[in-house]
Amino acid sequence: MSRTCHICLLPGDGIGPEITAEAVKVLGVMSELSDVTFEFTEALLGGAAIDATGTALPEATLAAAREADAVLLAAIGGPKWDTTDPDKPRPEQGLLGIRKALGLYANLRPVKPLDALSAASTLRPEVLAGVDMLIVRELTGGLYFGARARETGVPGAATGGGVGMRAYDTMTYTEREIERIARTAFDAARTRRNRVHSVDKANVLESSRLWREVVHRLHDAEYPDVELIDQLVDNTAMQLIRDPAQFDVIVTENMFGDILSDEASMLTGSLGMLASASLGDGTALYEPSHGSAPDIAGRGIANPLAMLLSVELMLRYSFGMHDAADALASSIEGVLADGWRTRDIADEHTLPQRTVGTSVMGDLVAARLRAQ
Ligand code: NAD
Repeated sequence: MSRTCHICLLPGDGIGPEITAEAVKVLGVMSELSDVTFEFTEALLGGAAIDATGTALPEATLAAAREADAVLLAAIGGPKWDTTDPDKPRPEQGLLGIRKALGLYANLRPVKPLDALSAASTLRPEVLAGVDMLIVRELTGGLYFGARARETGVPGAATGGGVGMRAYDTMTYTEREIERIARTAFDAARTRRNRVHSVDKANVLESSRLWREVVHRLHDAEYPDVELIDQLVDNTAMQLIRDPAQFDVIVTENMFGDILSDEASMLTGSLGMLASASLGDGTALYEPSHGSAPDIAGRGIANPLAMLLSVELMLRYSFGMHDAADALASSIEGVLADGWRTRDIADEHTLPQRTVGTSVMGDLVAARLRAQ
């Protein structure tokens, strides 16, 4: 049965429009090869939106995002819009605003070093063998959203022991917040290798003890088939470097996830290769982890692969098209295995004639998809 998927495209700033064009190209090939038709609505976000409308997240963009089946965002920001004036609009307001408005509480970041790029990692190839993990980070609760304050006039708080300042942040989680992110992790594990590491600091933090209780309650009631392992966050930080292949899905709270996902991203060694998905109860949003790379914008040399890997996630999580997602992933791996590189991932072994620009890289992936 034929089907239409509506995608809201947010090309944003810098290299955003260049890498978005490659995503559209590849999705066009997928349309040709399957009975799924992709339809696109393009909207403004970030600096481009500020220039056109005076605000980083126009109402029309939010409406287009809400109406779509999925949102594909490239990158926003750049020196043109950098300002320290708190009254001026900033591109990031668009990004934070759309995440909040769409209620995106789960951030998924796959980490899978590709054999062809193993030299880019700082770890030895034998440590990286078999690494294929998904980090599920809670995105709207925890320390980044709890009550915080700075107090003055606190006795004994000054360096010399006198009256001084004290600041605090609080890590809060509700059962509901924990359960919904745990569900995302268990569901994802069932489509992968069926193992979840739940990462907390339950030996010290009360919020972690509730976390552990709720994760186990959900597991026992609804996901007994999934292997569940509790791990303390300090241990996870060490295990990610010692033996990263042990992980399938890691689920953790906001700040732990922020830190661990950046640590894990370095297993791949390359920023231009990392994709992410942000899921909520409504439309999900997919984006590469890198920024708008203003230093290379408009030159046709940006690496489109993180964007294409974001498309892979979209096919998987929003459209349930796992075969198409697998085909896209293996096309990308195949192109890299054949030695093709954009400038950012080229090394001393790359043949000069195999160093290509954004559009040729997109063509190569599209050609591989057609050939499959
Ligand atoms: P950046 O990720 O844009 O760039 C860092 C370095 O990596 C640059 O040298 C850049 O050329 C390179 N790079 C990044 N993506 C690349 C790609 N696809 N292909 C080839 N090279 C690539 O980070 P930055 O320089 O710190 O930030 C630039 C702008 O992007 C800032 O305005 C920042 O606020 C914004 N930013 C946006 C996002 C987002 O949209 N999610 C994320 C991070 C930064």
